[in-house]
Amino acid sequence: MKKIQVITLFPEMFDGVFNSSMMWKAQKEGAVQFGLVNLREFGIGPRKQVDDMPYGGGDGMLLKPEPLFAAVEAAKANDPTARVVIMTPRGRRWKQSEAKAWATDTRGIIFICGRYEGYDERILTLVDDEVSVGDYVLTGGELPAMTIADSIVRLLPGVLGGEMSAEIESFSDGETLEFPQYTRPEEFRGLKVPDVLLSGNHAAIDKWRLEHSEKANP
Ligand code: SAH
Repeated sequence: MKKIQVITLFPEMFDGVFNSSMMWKAQKEGAVQFGLVNLREFGIGPRKQVDDMPYGGGDGMLLKPEPLFAAVEAAKANDPTARVVIMTPRGRRWKQSEAKAWATDTRGIIFICGRYEGYDERILTLVDDEVSVGDYVLTGGELPAMTIADSIVRLLPGVLGGEMSAEIESFSDGETLEFPQYTRPEEFRGLKVPDVLLSGNHAAIDKWRLEHSEKANP
């Protein structure tokens, strides 16, 4: 069973995503176990402080090292061999090939979700990977962690069931995007499904699909 833990100040954000549809099914079937670690519980003092001002000046606050280190150590105590992954726009961009690799190995994952202007850089001494979901800035690492977790969990054995969809879909060969797809009815508001797809001629269908697969974005 894949263990995925998330260190976050907003654990409630994960309720909807982890407890619906495929993510919920994957837990029910024992393919994945999610754990939420509330960073606030590791905050300092009566106000459970987790953030502080950056040295050298600048706008905004950073997550302090003490609560972050304590939270990572607590998560590691649950799963000592887990890979620790921090969400950051500075990280390498997440790709389908990596989702596949991480779904296939048995290592657990601990996601650290940054907030505010980010985190004290010293946390990187406990981090194995820095990952970005794209070249834009979000308010926190929660949506990236959900995105990456989803991309991995759907590839865990048994989660997509007998469907071959993960084998033929976009990026699965690292290069191409999936061909266009249609379902019933054959004609809708005057828009018709391409004839070849109704032909039953599998060679012709394969050829059409190949021609209509697009190259992935650079
Ligand atoms: N000051 C930082 C951005 C902070 S955004 C900068 O300029 O790079 C707050 C947190 O949201 C980050 O620490 C990170 O954990 C998360 N985050 C924002 N955008 C992200 C992205 N594209 N990929 C992954 N994590 C992201």
